[in-house]
Amino acid sequence: MATQARTIFIGGEWSAARSGASLDVRSPIDGEVFGAISRGEKSEIDHAVQAARAALAGPWSTMAGFERGRIMSRLSALILEQVEELAQLEARDTGKPITQARTDIRATARYFEFYAGAADKILGDVLPFLDGFQVTVQREPRGVCGLIIPWNYPASMFGRTIGPALATGNTVVLKPAEDASMSCTRLTALAHEAGVPVGVINLVTGLGEEAGAALSQHPDVDFLSFTGSPEVGTLIQTAAAKNHVPCVLELGGKSPQIVFDDADFDNAAKTIVGVITQNAGQTCSAGSRVLVQRSAYERFVALLAQKMSDVRVGAPQADLQCGPVINRTQQTKVQGFIERARAGGVEVIAQGSLDGSAVETGYFVTPTLFGPVPTDHELAQDEVFGPVLAVIPFEDEAEAVAIANGTAYGLVAGLWTENGARQMRVAKKLRVGQVFINNYGAGGGIELPFGGVKRSGHGREKGLEALKEYTVAKTIVLKHG
Ligand code: ADP
Repeated sequence: MATQARTIFIGGEWSAARSGASLDVRSPIDGEVFGAISRGEKSEIDHAVQAARAALAGPWSTMAGFERGRIMSRLSALILEQVEELAQLEARDTGKPITQARTDIRATARYFEFYAGAADKILGDVLPFLDGFQVTVQREPRGVCGLIIPWNYPASMFGRTIGPALATGNTVVLKPAEDASMSCTRLTALAHEAGVPVGVINLVTGLGEEAGAALSQHPDVDFLSFTGSPEVGTLIQTAAAKNHVPCVLELGGKSPQIVFDDADFDNAAKTIVGVITQNAGQTCSAGSRVLVQRSAYERFVALLAQKMSDVRVGAPQADLQCGPVINRTQQTKVQGFIERARAGGVEVIAQGSLDGSAVETGYFVTPTLFGPVPTDHELAQDEVFGPVLAVIPFEDEAEAVAIANGTAYGLVAGLWTENGARQMRVAKKLRVGQVFINNYGAGGGIELPFGGVKRSGHGREKGLEALKEYTVAKTIVLKHG
């Protein structure tokens, strides 16, 4: 029985769920319970949306952009002061190696820094029209934003969604993932301390099918942002359609890394293995397919195999390349992919190894490189969300593009070639939201617009592009004679 947690923050007050129910928080490192979160549901969501609506009419609505920016800068500074404490919490909650956790927390601070600078630069337009008229188009906040985020990068997703929402003058209700809410509770407290007015950020912890569903279906929410699985994405978009509100969906990918025979092999192999083992492969934009030109297949795959064999997996404090996956369900799911591929005769080219810090009760998975993988195999089509890499050979540029575009997803692509003309030619043919050439940022920097096409979702987060999603254009036509 979980102890009663008070992780719901509404209208500036912390509380338990009205039902009194809490959910245990288990660490993926050892499967042990180390905390609890409140199990908020419909009544807490109703209350939080009400608070967010009321705050829209409060000081937030009249505050100048630079003042909002100053509060956000303070939040960024507070996060930077507490990088270590927040990173330790994030590592415990998600299992990620401590260095990665620190990087994520710095990214969170960076989101608030970036969007603080944008808060007084939400520009409109003056349009040419008929003589005697003045037409302006101004960007206004959407209103109450419902934000539903996943467990893989909880802190940085807090910044990625709340940063642009606050910069543009919205108020929010955040529903973090039940598997990793701890850093979001700390960050919410810091936002309050930084001076974010009461009701502007509301946090409701709880289950997806309870609190998440209630938030997405709430008739008084003006905008939804969701990052998670395509299945839940469909539910969110259906709920948004019923309420006639817009939504941004980021739903994962099966991103290709395309390696031509003229690539810098060392750099490519090192980066590709680094990206698929970062966060134990639980990254929407992880490059999980490696398309290798046949003329370089043996040479490149040998290098890739060596890098994969070098990967060591362990507890966050051992600070290796790869930690455990988030929970038992995810572990079973990823291992299922590995076992089915083996049983079906797909060759294991190389595997990483578990370090002594990886205990039996933790949710560890051995990173695995498979190949050649047929293009219609599930490893070539489905998102594994674990440290599993599928190698697929191709003959020429046309075939590389066809295979790269030949899945239901379209989030990111990596392109590895020294041929300058080919770089742009291929990049333009890829149906994805981001292309990295001779590097791979796994989602990239805070400044870079990010989002997908097809099953990977729609809308753009990050960068200045996100500001368009969190605002709506109002056209004002003045006849002055
Ligand atoms: P994953 O498969 O990565 O766990 P999910 O799509 O299940 O991804 O979860 C992402 C986020 O969506 C989490 O915050 C989760 O609680 C929430 N969620 C899950 N189910 C629903 C639902 N039916 N309605 C709204 N939110 C949901």
